[in-house]
Amino acid sequence: MSYVREMIELAIRKNPAEPEFHQAVQEVLLSIEPVFDRRPEYRQKSILERFIEPERVIMFRVPWFDDHGRMNVNRGFRIQFSSALGPYKGGLRFHPTVNLGILKFLAFEQILKNSLTTLPIGAGKGGSDFDPKGKSDSEVMRFCQSFMTELYRHIGPNADVPAGDIGVGGREIGFLFGQYKRLCREFSGVLTGKATNWGGSLIRPEATGYGSVYFAQNMLTTRHEGLEGKVCTVSGSGNVSQYTVKKLIELGAKCVSLSDSNGTIYDPSGIDAEKLAYVMELKNIRRGRIRDYAEKYPGVEYREGDRPWGIKCDCAFPSATQNEISEEDAKRLVGNGCMLVSEGANMPTVPDGVDVFLENKILYGPGKAANAGGVAVSALEMAQNSQRLSWPSEEVDNRLRGIMRSIHQASHAASEEYGDPGNLVMGANIAGFVKVADAMLDQGLV
Ligand code: NDP
Repeated sequence: MSYVREMIELAIRKNPAEPEFHQAVQEVLLSIEPVFDRRPEYRQKSILERFIEPERVIMFRVPWFDDHGRMNVNRGFRIQFSSALGPYKGGLRFHPTVNLGILKFLAFEQILKNSLTTLPIGAGKGGSDFDPKGKSDSEVMRFCQSFMTELYRHIGPNADVPAGDIGVGGREIGFLFGQYKRLCREFSGVLTGKATNWGGSLIRPEATGYGSVYFAQNMLTTRHEGLEGKVCTVSGSGNVSQYTVKKLIELGAKCVSLSDSNGTIYDPSGIDAEKLAYVMELKNIRRGRIRDYAEKYPGVEYREGDRPWGIKCDCAFPSATQNEISEEDAKRLVGNGCMLVSEGANMPTVPDGVDVFLENKILYGPGKAANAGGVAVSALEMAQNSQRLSWPSEEVDNRLRGIMRSIHQASHAASEEYGDPGNLVMGANIAGFVKVADAMLDQGLV
């Protein structure tokens, strides 16, 4: 059995009941298999055995009182997967579906993503099965304070710097930061995604969505095309989706969908700046459901329980969650003439769906490359915090564009070097992996 197959079996055997983690390990390891013929020292030095084993997993109880004085208990996690390239870095997710396997898959993907950004950051991920939906601000605050009361001992500006993810936006980062500061008596860059008036970076809220669109532009350039006039479908309606739509509107594309976990809206006339402002108010302030959009604007269809992938489009931007594009959805997208998929979400396409995209040679940007803009600007936020300076938005945006260009270039170059030009799944995984593996070799058996 090959080294890679042995390691996939090992990961499955040692981590039962973690299907998402198995899926991520399998996808990555199979695509980097050709590297081991050229670099036998990786096997001799047990690089993969170490690469699939987190450096540390922290799991803890989070007790909190709700507004009725009832006691609640959630589970908190922080996975510190790899510090080969820098302090652990990756978001916190608050969602009822959160479990150990999902966070391990996310932290594992983060290793390669962070490596691709060209910036000095290791990889982690964390969160809780707490559901912020329907909770009051005071409940969310009490939960965040209790969560940080355990987490603070494990993080620090040079050790582990969490950020936001699903269910963790500016409000939650503020509450988490406040409690960290109170417990540690220091004002430091321990979290990213902070508000700009107290240490956040300009362009951080926009970065993942903008980055995914910049990545799409880079892919289109290889076919001498642009985004102007393209019909685009976007899933989700949270942070990544909102700024994906914003940048697409700015570049002259027409976005026709958004969704949430209840359903999808289809707006054939396109989401314009005014409608997007309504969505941002609906989701970020009123915390309502996307179905309200269809009630507000005429000519809009609401598809309960559906995802946007049956809608005809040129480009698709999955930006909600993992495994939201099935093999069937991928076939429908390709059958309807979709030429590009840029993944704002993490692992939104199931493996068989990815095969459909690759076989049909559409432009396909896997999440770890296409959505790396968020963590890249988080790393720029860390740099600004260390300097105690704040860079203008043009500077951050220009750096973001440059980083997305270099991620595309590195992934494309690796796909050519390993004999499958344009296969950015393979290219991104190899380019990200080799850098981490070489750092691990340099740092000895740790
Ligand atoms: P938000 O919480 O702001 O938005 C998430 C959106 O996805 C919401 O519309 C939510 O709907 C929907 N969603 C969540 N879970 C499900 C589900 N199980 N089924 C259907 N819809 C769902 O999160 P973000 O926009 O920050 O994150 C979206 C994706 O992007 C995630 O995969 C995240 O890991 C990834 N990502 C985010 C980065 C960032 O900087 N924020 C960086 C890199 C990747 P509802 O409100 O109904 O739950």
